[in-house]
Amino acid sequence: MRLVLLGAPGSGKGTQAQKLRDDKGIPQVSSGDLLRDAVARGTELGKRAKAAMDAGELVSDEIVLGLIRERLGRPDAAKGFILDGYPRNVAQAGALDKLLAELGQPIDSVVLMDVESKALFQRLTGRRSCPKCSKVFNVYSSPSKLGDRCDNHAGDEAPQLVQRADDREDVIENRLKVYESQTRPLVEHYQGRGLLKVVNADQAVDKVYADFLRAAGA
Ligand code: AMP
Repeated sequence: MRLVLLGAPGSGKGTQAQKLRDDKGIPQVSSGDLLRDAVARGTELGKRAKAAMDAGELVSDEIVLGLIRERLGRPDAAKGFILDGYPRNVAQAGALDKLLAELGQPIDSVVLMDVESKALFQRLTGRRSCPKCSKVFNVYSSPSKLGDRCDNHAGDEAPQLVQRADDREDVIENRLKVYESQTRPLVEHYQGRGLLKVVNADQAVDKVYADFLRAAGA
């Protein structure tokens, strides 16, 4: 299964991709996670990406394509993948088509996580994640059973949850604007190619997941 997840920041792409990964053993390939990892490791590429990420702007197409190419070339991606956060503009969609043609692995479907834009702000300000396993929580809608620590680990070793640096109000505003202007055109792009499925992502996580499975034919 080769899926692309589309949706605004805060629409739940990461949460749903992680559930599908855990259920079906298909790797989640998140361009945001790959970039954050490069920044945390202080690589040359991470240093080049950091300013754009801090401002909520898109990192250059060339940097992100390099990361995605390397990730999709790993053995575990040969049996499928869930692309989360890539592509993010029409040029990236073209580059992805070329890359997947080279790999002989075309996209099966594109699933749009559809949420009304006024719900996104609260989702993003409430988001917390585990620095160790990347599990995503929301203090309003899906809190950790261990409060501010990750419930995916045994009691005493449960790491303190963290808030992403770009989940600050001023940066969130810009990320949502960037989504509208650069990423939303992909909805029409994939609709035109007959690949788009739409999921109402403004429901409880498990309900969204059931709809997601159906839409993805999983
Ligand atoms: P995300 O975790 O998907 O919200 O991504 C966090 C940040 O990483 C974004 O605000 C961008 O700065 C950068 N980023 C993630 N994916 C891409 C992409 N496909 N193209 C450009 N920048 C990206």
